[in-house]
Amino acid sequence: MTTTMTSSFPAEILHRAAALLEQRRRPLLISHPRPDGDTIGCALALRLALLQIGSQPLLACVHPIPENVAYLPGAETYVSDVPEDVDIDLVIAVDMSDLSRTGGIYKDAWCGKFPLLVIDHHATNDAFGDVNLVDPDAAATALPLAALIDALGIPLTGDMATCLLAAVLTDTRGLRTSNTSPEVLRFVGQLIEAGGDYAGVMEKTLDSIPYRQMRGWAVALDRLQLDGQLAWATFPLAEKIALGIEDHDDLDLGNLLSRVAEAKVMVTFLEMRDGTVKVSLRSRPGYNVAWIAKVLEGGGHHQAAGCSVTGDLDAAQARVLPLARQELAQHPGEGLGAADSATFARVSARR
Ligand code: AMP
Ligand code: MN
Ligand code: MN
Repeated sequence: MTTTMTSSFPAEILHRAAALLEQRRRPLLISHPRPDGDTIGCALALRLALLQIGSQPLLACVHPIPENVAYLPGAETYVSDVPEDVDIDLVIAVDMSDLSRTGGIYKDAWCGKFPLLVIDHHATNDAFGDVNLVDPDAAATALPLAALIDALGIPLTGDMATCLLAAVLTDTRGLRTSNTSPEVLRFVGQLIEAGGDYAGVMEKTLDSIPYRQMRGWAVALDRLQLDGQLAWATFPLAEKIALGIEDHDDLDLGNLLSRVAEAKVMVTFLEMRDGTVKVSLRSRPGYNVAWIAKVLEGGGHHQAAGCSVTGDLDAAQARVLPLARQELAQHPGEGLGAADSATFARVSARR
């Protein structure tokens, strides 16, 4: 079956993207570092679609595929490095807002010889491709991608639908986010009708947290702080080393903290081995954290964004928390009263 996705980008862009995929036979599909279900699920769905029209796609991601999406069909074909003599004729960036998010897989001198197709949905996308199939209103890259697969006339198989389900269910945190529109729910329904394994994705991708990661949540929650409507947690490198957590492991702390009831803006600080701190920002609807990530040379969506800052945890907090407070100050008088929030802050600020 095919989907009936409508998207907010012009039909001309869809046709240009489809034409590129029809003309080129050896595309390189790149997923972003610290990959999530959207970038992996979409690349895997597109791989299956392209195989149907006789293409030979190559998938690359600089980091290992996380356990919660490693079961998806084709995940074992990912490579982490692409030698420059590999025979490709098209590059496709999946679920990323700028070229740096290819994690170094895109090398200008080599990849620059081939057309670059960007399939994405980040509010901060800077249109870095030759063709940019970017829908900032889409809840996941899976939606513009499904429109593209549809435009190619390729029927959805059960496996493709399962990969797309992993993508859309990850980015909507299991259909929880405020951009979970009727269109998204209809899309999910179509994917289930096409044979997608909804219950399997819910169980394996969303509800299976590796023990190591859950121990990591314990560390982060123990260090959770609340000041007014701002919640944050730091995660020192020593704790990561003690738990055997690598820098590329995505502990999903951003989404964990996004549930603190009193908070409108939530920030996690994860100390890295290279002297940087990975910052994840989340916000309640109506509050925007994309601009904060963008100011710090990262990117993302209004309600979920990220960046890396140089320095230790104290330096990172000193840089990011004032910006988060600036966003909160745009909405005076909303949420808890000042007296209530001061009480919460005293009770919760253990560190
Ligand atoms: P995270 O906090 O890593 O879960 O990321 C939240 C959102 O921001 C995701 O959509 C990421 O793709 C995006 N994002 C995270 N880090 C960066 C970065 N350094 N540059 C651009 N976008 C990012
Ligand atoms: Mn992503
Ligand atoms: Mn995404």
